[in-house]
Amino acid sequence: MNGGIGWRDLGDGGSRRTADRDVEITDVECVCIEGNFPWNLLKVSTDAGEYGIGEAFTGPASEYVEFLRPGLVGENPFDLDRLVEHMTQLVSGLGGTKGYAQAAVSGVETALLDVAGKLTGLPVYQLLGGKYRDSVRIYADCHAGEALSNMSAADPREIYSPDAYAQVARDVVDDGFSALKFDLDVKIEEADTASRRLSTEAIEHKVDIVRAVREEIGTGPMLGFDLHWNYDVPTATSLAQKLEPFDLDWLEDPVPPDTVDAHRKVSESTRTPILSGENLVRVGGFLPYLTDQALDVIAPDLQKCGGLQEFRKIASLADAFNVPVVPHNISSPVGTIASVHACATVPNCIALEWHAREVDWWDDMHTGDRLIEQGRIEVPETPGLGISLDPDVLRDRLAPGEELFDL
Ligand code: MG
Repeated sequence: MNGGIGWRDLGDGGSRRTADRDVEITDVECVCIEGNFPWNLLKVSTDAGEYGIGEAFTGPASEYVEFLRPGLVGENPFDLDRLVEHMTQLVSGLGGTKGYAQAAVSGVETALLDVAGKLTGLPVYQLLGGKYRDSVRIYADCHAGEALSNMSAADPREIYSPDAYAQVARDVVDDGFSALKFDLDVKIEEADTASRRLSTEAIEHKVDIVRAVREEIGTGPMLGFDLHWNYDVPTATSLAQKLEPFDLDWLEDPVPPDTVDAHRKVSESTRTPILSGENLVRVGGFLPYLTDQALDVIAPDLQKCGGLQEFRKIASLADAFNVPVVPHNISSPVGTIASVHACATVPNCIALEWHAREVDWWDDMHTGDRLIEQGRIEVPETPGLGISLDPDVLRDRLAPGEELFDL
């Protein structure tokens, strides 16, 4: 079932196995937790008395895990790089190196790293090559900044008012964050969405929002705004240029995906840094954007991009083009702490997203202390990912029809 692609490494007839590393994977399981997104948690069991946990991006992870399981059971979990290659070959007919298949590969790889760390007594960051920093800066995703009390207002200008954005920004900075992001693609008028154009008034409304936020928090905090691929090059360019006085750290996804030239045109036209990449997969997905100098910042998602090791390759390539990484992250504490380990190991990671401000039980999912303190997450020093899940909390939050694996 490997899509006709042969193993690249079995010319030795399997002699890579030696007795002292004779550990075998015995099972791979997946469970979906209902968070603010469906969170796919994975468990890789071994015959060595330890298991690993990981997280795959929201989507049909369980189907892919079912498909991958026969190719993983009996394999050695320490063969980290080889197993990623093996899994990628197995799913070559299901989206392979580009589609959702890599999200499942990413989740399994994280679980393999967790169990390999537990079995060797090493934290995952150490398995990945060692760290550049002891904690990772977290940026808070703040959605559209709307005040809930205003949600019944008829006029979207009142819901998405510059003051509502500024108030949320103040609250987030007061919570200790030094980096934050808002959605800026809010609709205040019946725009012609087919044309991807905005009126001058709509552009000015967005400029007013950004001005209000910057005036509220000052120039110190890192600040980004997301446009969710909504606009054409002239509109995106006009907006990006008008936002230059506010020194944004990035303007995210201004134009439709899969158009390298459009990204390059926008980024060449403005000194507002242009960011994209949450849906790009593996080094191959980022390569044209980097070689064409189409982006100023990239945002791989570690539960989707091919795994923590693949993220390091992507970040390394970006570093060669002097491009920083600000990873996308909508995951549970499992995917978040996995991302922290990986982010600590690359020089050019300047912040990691956190998208769960509204989930007040986020930290209850694990048995340790609150992960985010003063807008940062400390890199764990305990073996593996350094996180233990609370089965009772997970059981209360299972998606319909799901059954929790043993923890
Ligand atoms: Mg985004």
